[in-house]
Amino acid sequence: MVHPVFDNLPTTIFERMSGLARQHGAINLGQGFPDDQGPLPVREAAARALLDGSNQYPPMRGLPELRAAVAGHYGRTQGLSLDPDSEIIVTSGATEALAAAFLSLIAPGDEVVLFQPLYDAYLPLVRRAGGIPRLVRLSPPSWRFDRAMLEAAFSDRTRLVVLNSPLNPAAVVTPDEDLALLAEFCVRHDVIAVCDEVWEAVVFDGRAHRPLIGVPGMRERTVKIGSAGKLFGMTGWKVGFLCAAPPLAKALAAAHQFLTFTTPPNLQAAVAWGLEHHRAWFDEMPAALARARDRLASGLAVAGYAVLESQGSYFLNVDLAASGIGLDDVTFCERIVAEQGVAAIPVSAFYAENPVTTVVRLCFAKADATLDEAVRRLAAARTLYR
Ligand code: PMP
Ligand code: GLN
Repeated sequence: MVHPVFDNLPTTIFERMSGLARQHGAINLGQGFPDDQGPLPVREAAARALLDGSNQYPPMRGLPELRAAVAGHYGRTQGLSLDPDSEIIVTSGATEALAAAFLSLIAPGDEVVLFQPLYDAYLPLVRRAGGIPRLVRLSPPSWRFDRAMLEAAFSDRTRLVVLNSPLNPAAVVTPDEDLALLAEFCVRHDVIAVCDEVWEAVVFDGRAHRPLIGVPGMRERTVKIGSAGKLFGMTGWKVGFLCAAPPLAKALAAAHQFLTFTTPPNLQAAVAWGLEHHRAWFDEMPAALARARDRLASGLAVAGYAVLESQGSYFLNVDLAASGIGLDDVTFCERIVAEQGVAAIPVSAFYAENPVTTVVRLCFAKADATLDEAVRRLAAARTLYR
């Protein structure tokens, strides 16, 4: 008789809602992925690399050309100076980067501070590594933490804090003063920050993404995680990056080598090409997504929905209670997918305890016609569910 230890974990909310969307033939505004194919020149670079380049194991830390391109990109866009040889590791998506960080940096019994709402992979991985979660609860509309919340969560046993900014699903960017506050706690308690910055390129309205690794005191104690899937809007690519000072990077690489060892070389080559040669994308992409956000937000507002501000990511949230809808988020999502043909994500799924139950996440990285039809259906839902 086998006794699997992960068997009590439910299938992720993303997989579940995408399954329901398929079953009901619904418009899928649930799981976050764009409905276009991604930038053609970058896909052509991948095709060239597949046909003409090497298809054998690349170096364990990633193709040198990609590590150099990542360093160049973060230098240009975030003012960071990273050494491609000793401070950057290419992973199979941000998910593997997170797993490598937790496995290599957490010893059983270490406390790990995490902010709710939290991305679904964090808690199972932290617990599997032996970490003891200390949860800070954020709530709408600002989703911000303060000094008292950090005082309550940090202790002498804290080893790690996990920060996701821009924050999925809240779609907010951590303000500079909150980054400085968190840095103060990390330095005081000698804590490593694992920063999930997969949404760093998807910020709107002239905002700049500020990495915690660039805040004074954090350069040597931060692991910065990125994802080419999000940089280029091709979520299936699963090419991620770990960036950290050399001693941390060495520990991260030790975990990475036994998780996946490497990542397909052709996709690595294409990401390197895109970062170097398709730079206009990093202005065009957020501008196009901001237009899609505004289209969905204004349609929903006209239909009577209370739309929360979206500062970044592919998502915006609606507050059901403030929209005059008396259902909780899970019931609302189960009903609209089956009855109206729109899949969405209940934000309570991102809480391990004491969830916010009135907020629903919608993905706007879709064609105008898809968004317009979704608005029409959601408008009908609001009338029915009041
Ligand atoms: N972290 C966050 C906050 C995410 O939203 C996602 C996926 N969108 C990931 C990690 C996973 O990234 P990847 O697909 O590169 O593994
Ligand atoms: N990050 C995506 C989202 O938030 C989902 C990723 C996944 O399905 N694992 O929608």
